[in-house]
Amino acid sequence: MSRLVQVAIPTPLYRLFDYNWSGDAPIVRGARVGVPFGRRQVIGIVLGELESTQVPLNKLRAVQRIIDDVPLIPADIMDLLSWASRYYHHPLGEVLMSALPSRLRKGQAADIAEREFFVWTGPVPVPESLQSARVQYQIAEYLANLGGKSAAADALVRISPRWRTSIASLIKKQMVVCERALHIPDNTSNASAPVLADEQKHAVDLIVSALNSDQRFLLNGVTGSGKTEVYLRSIEAASAKGLQSLVLVPEISLTPQLMSRFEQRLDGCLVSLHSGLNDTERMQNWLCAAQGYANVVIGTRSSILAPMPHLGLIIVDEEHDGSFKQQDGFRYHARDLALLRARACKCPIVLGSATPSFESLNNVANGKFIELPLTQRAGEAVPPTLALMDIRRRKLIEGLSDRMIEAIKKHLDNAGQALIFINRRGFAPTLLCNDCGAAADCRRCDAHMTVHARHNRLRCHHCGSERAMPTGCESCGSVELDRVGYGTERIAQALSEAFPDILIARIDRDSTRRKGALEQQLDLATSGEARILVGTQMLAKGHHFPKLTLVGILDADRGLFGTDFRSLENMGQLILQVAGRAGREKNSGTVMIQTRNPDNPMLQTLINDGYPAFASVAMGERKLAQLPPYSFMALIRAEAADGREPHRFLLEVVETLKNYNVGQLDVLGPVPAPMEKLGGRFRAQLLLQSNLRSTLNDSLTRLCNVIDGLSGARRCRWSIDVDPVDLF
Ligand code: ADP
Ligand code: ZN
Ligand code: ZN
Repeated sequence: MSRLVQVAIPTPLYRLFDYNWSGDAPIVRGARVGVPFGRRQVIGIVLGELESTQVPLNKLRAVQRIIDDVPLIPADIMDLLSWASRYYHHPLGEVLMSALPSRLRKGQAADIAEREFFVWTGPVPVPESLQSARVQYQIAEYLANLGGKSAAADALVRISPRWRTSIASLIKKQMVVCERALHIPDNTSNASAPVLADEQKHAVDLIVSALNSDQRFLLNGVTGSGKTEVYLRSIEAASAKGLQSLVLVPEISLTPQLMSRFEQRLDGCLVSLHSGLNDTERMQNWLCAAQGYANVVIGTRSSILAPMPHLGLIIVDEEHDGSFKQQDGFRYHARDLALLRARACKCPIVLGSATPSFESLNNVANGKFIELPLTQRAGEAVPPTLALMDIRRRKLIEGLSDRMIEAIKKHLDNAGQALIFINRRGFAPTLLCNDCGAAADCRRCDAHMTVHARHNRLRCHHCGSERAMPTGCESCGSVELDRVGYGTERIAQALSEAFPDILIARIDRDSTRRKGALEQQLDLATSGEARILVGTQMLAKGHHFPKLTLVGILDADRGLFGTDFRSLENMGQLILQVAGRAGREKNSGTVMIQTRNPDNPMLQTLINDGYPAFASVAMGERKLAQLPPYSFMALIRAEAADGREPHRFLLEVVETLKNYNVGQLDVLGPVPAPMEKLGGRFRAQLLLQSNLRSTLNDSLTRLCNVIDGLSGARRCRWSIDVDPVDLF
């Protein structure tokens, strides 16, 4: 008997596709199938069986093969992703595929790899006769000491790279047997837990007693207060009950320390999911999560979409971090999906931060989250002291005030370590002609080229294009060129001239591009060998540098005048996160912030009264202006090589939205994007705003029903961004 099935296929179209299936094998929701699509064969996900179809029977094509006989994407994740597809207005086929590791997207079988294990079956103690073959004897001793437990190849490689021949001999002598079993990672902890402070204990108690409920928590803990310790204890409690824990972190590759802290403290199957893994590792770890073997999954953004049948606890570390928002394709926010997923599977969720997002603070204010405060630093550490350093009319040496240089010197003399933060890489952001005033611009963007002095090149930080450093002005030919402004490269150079005997580690995207370079630089920073660190926001992320006592912030003022409604919030978070790297152990920390706006009330509030006071004032301003989290936004972006097309298309969208007359929806624009030309294409945008989530969502739903048919839709690349994190 032939059956009708509905299949989601990864295409940019908002529609689903019907096929028939006449085989005997069952065809289940969430399984992958191979289907013909146009002239290609593609992989789609089964949504379910249909009673009838609009497709004429002679046009209906057949499913070619069923890849999974059980759902690869289980029901709870299918539901979550279907909801996300409607909420973010992104086609379901692409949404479903984005939940899968690439190997599985390409149709590989969903099987965890097997590997060999070796068990000692010979006499104990190990026969003396083996001593003549050294490696054999060492391996025999090792295995015999496991008391019947097996060992995998990686343990034996550590004994000798020539383990293969030795183990073969032992097997031949019938002292060892080789078994094949699923390759499930098994971690053994090796560090003991500290005694919890009262606030930490209170937080852990509440979280643990909420296991099996859908309680939502905001762990609002100052930097260095031991939030990670709270996560670790809560995870242990969940594991003891047989529950899986999911820990979302911003960018694991930037904080390799974090993963090793979890490995030191947690036992069992601990897996990570992030872009630093190769395709095989990623698929294996994903399968360990999906088949319930992993008790802890630590991952970046997309791991919120990984199936976990026994999920019992979700943690979102540094929940304010912008990297939880996917910025292209399926533009979801992992924190928001995490909240929804926790509710759907009735498990508690803990959002942790020293500088919570205004969304989360608002959720505490309206009673949706329980706040767990950690107001003290852990152990002997005390909070750093923050001070503004007025640099108006003061002499700057390469962007550094003389007082900053003195402070660095003082801290170095006292065996401290200094971190200089400037959120700009390269040598100087602008190359300016002294004669005609022209700047070297990117030819594909509305942006200046950044000077990279060491490689003697100009680079655009927006589209990546680059060219050789010109010897004369590109407009008038004058050789009077000025490198204006400062980046990490220039600051690091200036500091190495001021402190010629001191090792300086520069940490930014340029200096850490090579594989292993970031780890190397971070090791120098952690050990204290590098006594001055210069870097961008990569240095603000959760690092723990034991010897760091001074933090100098050079470009705080930029955030005060940002064009985006979140600029101020982000500035406050960034300053306090960088500041939070100082004085995390015995020696107290000092933070000096260079500014030309020492009287700015927001800066004053942040420095003198702390983040909660700062957030409360800034949130008051958002409320007055009816900006998120007090209203809801979506941004429709369009771009094309022809500068008129995006505008035309967005005008069509405005007309379409008018027809629906849904009331309380503000439609602002179209306007050119803040950077109109990017990578050789022209961009425009339309902002939709409403006080009612349902109004915004309904309007977008109706728009999406017809948007593929608008005449401009084919002449532009366009996207819908619900709850945008920036309006750029
Ligand atoms: P946060 O994530 O809040 O910035 P961490 O979890 O990194 O803070 O903790 C900061 C430091 O304090 C770490 O070195 C950690 O091992 C230590 N620590 C955490 N809790 C305690 C405690 N109860 N007693 C002693 N040291 C602690
Ligand atoms: Zn010129
Ligand atoms: Zn460019």
